[in-house]
Amino acid sequence: MENKKEKKDILAAVPLPEKISRPSWEEYFFQIAETVATRSTCMRRRVGAVLVKDKRILSTGYNGAPRGISHCIEVGCLREELGVPSGERHELCRALHAEQNAIAQAALHGVKIEGSTLYCTHQPCVLCAKMIINAGIVEVYFNEGYPDELATAFFAEAGIKIHRIGG
Ligand SMILES: [Zn+2]
Ligand SMILES: [Zn+2]
Repeated sequence: MENKKEKKDILAAVPLPEKISRPSWEEYFFQIAETVATRSTCMRRRVGAVLVKDKRILSTGYNGAPRGISHCIEVGCLREELGVPSGERHELCRALHAEQNAIAQAALHGVKIEGSTLYCTHQPCVLCAKMIINAGIVEVYFNEGYPDELATAFFAEAGIKIHRIGG
């Protein structure tokens, strides 16, 4: 009896925590995507992607050159030199997109990403959209818009849900 009372007193002495603000799961994974983007080696935009299933991170990627190949920030980017407008002539750049790298990382390590959700700092382009569809990703969250109507149309046709965070 005395023991029980003692225990109660100890608990009473523990100060109540201040109200802690916590991000939602969407905000949490999105913040991680923004951190991943800081590793980007693209001269134009820094993009980060995180693949998630059942609240677990399966893979991450940022935009940059393939392994063993010099980055645009080291040797320059042909798209930049030629002044190619946004959304055109992707093939001139040596970099893979963040979404492509996240999918490739999963393949490299044998991680199944079917049924996963993509959190990406930017709206995927049409090249990435096609890979996202066939990789079995079912939902996409992004923040920054990207001018690619074909990508949006493909996602709609394939039944992939896309959401703009904070927009
Ligand atoms: Zn480049
Ligand atoms: Zn892309």
